[in-house]
Amino acid sequence: MHTFTVDYSKDRPDPRTWVNRGYFAHSLPRLIPLCQLFGHKPVVDGYDSNYGTRDRARWVACDRCGVRPEPQGVLDADTWQLGQPYTGPFNPGQPMSPTVRKQLAARGHDAGIRQPGAWPARPEGAIGCQLVIGRSPTLGFGFKVGNAGSEHVLSAHIGLGPLGALYVHTECFGTFLQRRLNPTGFHSRVVDLSFHHGRVWWSLWARRNEHRAKDPRWMSGNANINPAHYLLGPRTNTVLDRTEKTPATVHLLDGTQHAVTVRMEKWQQCRPRGRRKTFWAVDWDCPTGIPIRNHAWKGYETYGGHFPAPDGLTDADGWAEEAARLVAESCMRSRDRYGYRAPAA
Ligand SMILES: [Zn+2]
Repeated sequence: MHTFTVDYSKDRPDPRTWVNRGYFAHSLPRLIPLCQLFGHKPVVDGYDSNYGTRDRARWVACDRCGVRPEPQGVLDADTWQLGQPYTGPFNPGQPMSPTVRKQLAARGHDAGIRQPGAWPARPEGAIGCQLVIGRSPTLGFGFKVGNAGSEHVLSAHIGLGPLGALYVHTECFGTFLQRRLNPTGFHSRVVDLSFHHGRVWWSLWARRNEHRAKDPRWMSGNANINPAHYLLGPRTNTVLDRTEKTPATVHLLDGTQHAVTVRMEKWQQCRPRGRRKTFWAVDWDCPTGIPIRNHAWKGYETYGGHFPAPDGLTDADGWAEEAARLVAESCMRSRDRYGYRAPAA
């Protein structure tokens, strides 16, 4: 067994997150008492394409514990059906070195290289988790049952919003459940309940990352959870008035200047049985972008935004420069939130 931890808070510093750390344990022995007593129960495992293509694969796994021989074998998909007991040969001479394998294949001698090898004497698995204490991006809970090809066989999470979150996954552990609940196909299944954007979102044994038109309605969906939505009716937001886009300059505390355009918008918010509320908002654009965070793949710039403006701003002369000052404040707040560090010159 070997263990290690990873400190994610270094990549994403956030003063409201005190701990953001991953804990991993690899090469953990798997306890499989039934298979140790009675031997493994080989079946044909693999997948078929959903799209009618020839993308199919077959290999051997134990029906009970999910352990695969090493190597798992490359079987003919026309001969072997998914889930069928495997009665074909094993080649315990495997695994052989890739060089030997290549030399044999070059002589036209397959030496059983497509057959499954020997069962591992001491099957192993891994467990990992990520613990967040303090602000976390999720509110909700759920679990995933992987498919035959998943690296993470089982995973689960609970997110408590500002309090923290815990994510756990297994590798190899839990294949018994995966083989009972989701043996074929290459879609993992999820059960999940989460809360965001004023709505509750659910998935009940839904395919992960895929929705099909013929899926039953209960399988996944979302609903508004704001009581006002039901008491007063759905909220509508309308723009009643807006100024022209006006050029202005944003001066940041680090001495940089950014050319932007600002515009004021008068919004009306109302519900059919509620009061009307009007307010002004600043809408701004910066085509060249203003750096606010350090993020490897999202990039680090913001190109515009929208936020409520103080009362009376539009009446004053020089409102555009005042709006640009508010944009600067908003950018500085974002930099604080993301723990922005200016790149070295
Ligand atoms: Zn087994």
